[in-house]
Amino acid sequence: MTLRVPMVDLPSQYRPLRAQILAAVTRVTESQQFIMGPETAALEAELESMLGVEHAISVSSGTDALLLALMALGVGPGDDVVMPVYSFFATAAAAVRLGATPVFVDIEPDSFNVDVAQIPPVLSSRTKALLPCHLFGLSADLDSLLTLASRASIPVVEDAAQAIGATCGSRPVGGFGAFGCFSFYPTKNLGAFGDAGLLTTNDAGLASRARRLRVHGMDARYVHTMVGGNFRMDAMQAAILRVKAPHLPAWTEARRQHAARYRRMFHEAGLTGTVVLPVEPPDRRHVFHQFVIRVDERDALKRHLDARGIGSEVYYPVPLHLQPAFASLGGRPGDFPRAERAARESLAIPIHAELSCDQQQLVVDAIGEFVKGPRGSP
Ligand SMILES: *Cc1c(COP(=O)(O)O)cnc(C)c1O
Repeated sequence: MTLRVPMVDLPSQYRPLRAQILAAVTRVTESQQFIMGPETAALEAELESMLGVEHAISVSSGTDALLLALMALGVGPGDDVVMPVYSFFATAAAAVRLGATPVFVDIEPDSFNVDVAQIPPVLSSRTKALLPCHLFGLSADLDSLLTLASRASIPVVEDAAQAIGATCGSRPVGGFGAFGCFSFYPTKNLGAFGDAGLLTTNDAGLASRARRLRVHGMDARYVHTMVGGNFRMDAMQAAILRVKAPHLPAWTEARRQHAARYRRMFHEAGLTGTVVLPVEPPDRRHVFHQFVIRVDERDALKRHLDARGIGSEVYYPVPLHLQPAFASLGGRPGDFPRAERAARESLAIPIHAELSCDQQQLVVDAIGEFVKGPRGSP
């Protein structure tokens, strides 16, 4: 069954770009140069100017961007990496894979981002990096975080996987910390046709370390000065991303307009007392990778929407301290009450650029029906 309102609509995004994308793919197949090369170099230069950073380093995925950032900073066994407890698994896995310990911090009561005020008590001589995530497309409170980080002389790595184009005080995220990490997973705001990611930095020394680690720590040809990995981007992904990247500002604007329209619709339907809408502080530009509402009886609402062909998704049902893979860290229910509450109440509803006004009305009407009607009845 095709959904009346899908969570994402990649075919509609692809259709108008089809000819250009096929031309880009043909360019790569004709060149027979598949790994890095001129396409990734051109993409890197284009993204450097778009994101306002000195160095953009194309990589194999957002996950690998995080791993590479921590490797370049020398994070290893015995080190702590401080991060929000409410994020995608990859944020914490990057630290764990290097033998470091993720140290979790609860989120703000109104946004889904790290509560910077709760960071100082967990800092110690072991703290090797702060790893905020700009969750759902909203910048974390970077002003407070960077002040704290520079006082403590701890580098910041931004997990900007969901926030390409988001700003804090008019500057794009990803350029504030030692490193910014982006993902071009197909359903991200800028998506490749497979896995791809980006690492950004304004530090020439860190950039050259990261570039070397990206190719197995190779310095001169087949002479390796460090143990890195294969974190390279395919030329095919770079060529496709070069077609799509110029459209990102318009797609982002469409997402923002949809968000504003949702706000009006929820308000007009008298639902704002029951449905908590996402916040957008005045100094930050939200790019709405997700439009995440909070409701009691979230699971019943999701079933109600499913039954009506309306897509929705729970990001994330399990906070990081309760993930089975991190059981050895000793996290317990109750440790991070705000994140645990968000995990129970949050529901992402469709916000992709191609969404129509009528589809948004269907979503809001269906939610209104659930809120006002007899609970749980189909
Ligand atoms: C998508 C995502 C990642 C990982 O990116 P991949 O390209 O899928 O490896 C990391 N962190 C966050 C917050 C993400 O949303």
